[in-house]
Amino acid sequence: MVRGLTDTHCHLHEYRDDDVISIARLGIRVVAVSDDYSSSLRTLRLWGRHRWVIPAVGLHPWNVGRDSVRDAQRIVELAELYSVKFLGEIGLDRRFVPQTIDAQQRVFREFLEYARGRRVALSIHSVNTWREVLELLERFDIYTAVLHWYTGPLELLERVRDMGMFIGVNPAIELQERHRRVVASAPPEILVPESDGPYRYRGLELHPYMITRAVHWIAKLRGLSYEEALDLVTDNTRRLLRLA
Ligand SMILES: [Zn+2]
Repeated sequence: MVRGLTDTHCHLHEYRDDDVISIARLGIRVVAVSDDYSSSLRTLRLWGRHRWVIPAVGLHPWNVGRDSVRDAQRIVELAELYSVKFLGEIGLDRRFVPQTIDAQQRVFREFLEYARGRRVALSIHSVNTWREVLELLERFDIYTAVLHWYTGPLELLERVRDMGMFIGVNPAIELQERHRRVVASAPPEILVPESDGPYRYRGLELHPYMITRAVHWIAKLRGLSYEEALDLVTDNTRRLLRLA
């Protein structure tokens, strides 16, 4: 049963209005991340229409170009204007878009500067930049963050916990051994479910209804019953949302 759960990372702005209505029927809450300025505006509009939407404004590292610092500043202005509690999807990616890493760093710092000392949570993309991202989060005194779909080094997981941060568990775990290893060894109190819908991963069309699969895998890998895993992620998500 998916009702009552929270999808902590979903690109809701990419869904058509009728798909959003069917997601509404699931009875879940969704942290709706954005990819750029215009999708941030759409996310804010969806928030205006749906109480279950928790908006995040941001600029995805894959969308960073040479002139993106100005876009980041405009998105930060939106965050301030609407008192948005989440920023995302933001971060650094050295694997898929290494050619823009300098611009990505400038953009990411715009968001970190804004979040410094503020009670906002970040939804972070940190592919092949896990250590670097954690160091920045520490240096900028970031309140809390979710490292979404974490597949990074296992030895950083305790540090994530000590920093009061979380990692997103994605339904793609059924296809991804690396993600399973992470979930099997992470401190249980940092695990929160996410879909990253509507992203496609190896033929799997990710969607918010699938977050129960992430919970099933947490149960399986941690030797818990489904109900125990559900209680665990519910507690963790509640803590995350209270912080944000
Ligand atoms: Zn995403």
